Amino acid sequence: MKAMLLSHPGPAEQSPLELTDLPTPTPGDDEVLVLVHTCGICHTDLHTVEGEISGKLPVVPGHQIVGVVEKIGRSAGLFQIGDRVGVPWLHRTCGECEFCRSDRENLCERAQFTGFHVNGGYAEYAVVPTVFAVGIPDGFNDAHAAPLLCAGIIGYRALRLSNVRRQQTLGLYGFGASAHIAIQIAIRWGCEVFVATRATEHQRLAKELGATWVGHAEDVPSGALHAAVIFAPAGLLVPEALRALRKGGTLALAGIYMTPIPEMKYERLYHERVVRSVANATRDDARQLMQLAGEIPIRTEAQTFPLADANRALLALKQSEIHGAGVLIIDR
Ligand SMILES: [Zn+2]
Ligand SMILES: [Zn+2]
Repeated sequence: MKAMLLSHPGPAEQSPLELTDLPTPTPGDDEVLVLVHTCGICHTDLHTVEGEISGKLPVVPGHQIVGVVEKIGRSAGLFQIGDRVGVPWLHRTCGECEFCRSDRENLCERAQFTGFHVNGGYAEYAVVPTVFAVGIPDGFNDAHAAPLLCAGIIGYRALRLSNVRRQQTLGLYGFGASAHIAIQIAIRWGCEVFVATRATEHQRLAKELGATWVGHAEDVPSGALHAAVIFAPAGLLVPEALRALRKGGTLALAGIYMTPIPEMKYERLYHERVVRSVANATRDDARQLMQLAGEIPIRTEAQTFPLADANRALLALKQSEIHGAGVLIIDR
């Protein structure tokens, strides 16, 4: 099968992914083989490719896979051949550690992640344990469904962890793939959404999707927000978002990686403001997001690239030049 393989991490400008022929994987007993139609690109892929985080090497990145089941392992009876499925970031958990036993499998001590510890979806095929695959709501084509699988799921979990309540004000910092989905859920909940982003294209999309206010982070009025989520991997946004956060509000940090958080005065945090990170997501998050996506229905913006152009897609992501979400199309 064709795959974009990462052997040596490096700056996206140097095209670290190589188009390679790999053996088509064989599903294990509890796995299915998925014929990949599309795979979304994510900031986590960029951090992997550039070496800021590392799992196994060489690796095929990609953890927002949409495809159809082509082969089924002996005990993997949840799906039928030909079913359309999504493959998210969480590939497998141990089921035994304290986190798995307390509904926090996203924190599993031995979690494996798609496109990080095992090969992912920048390829013609991928395997997934059947219980970690998720159904895709009707009404989404393969390209528009892909961003739901990480951008959507993480955005949803970040909103939940921000503790935002219906009708409250919410700040979103950074407006890429995840935020453009999260805003639609927040508006469905009746929230007033403030979007802080530099890119004028992103500001335009935020307005179009119903943002009450768009502008730069430093211009968000002090105390305007009941809750906030930072999607951009920029630590300097933390004190800025705290300034805009009301007493008792929560600031959730949605990224897997962030530049250092600058020193700040304690008063930014005082009055029971909470800063918390968001790490991965559970299967429940995935199922709930998929259900919401179908009900609202969430509209995703997909900018598509052929598989062989994955390096160019990641570079565009790095330069904030992707409109909505970037998605690789795996043509045969
Ligand atoms: Zn575990
Ligand atoms: Zn991701």
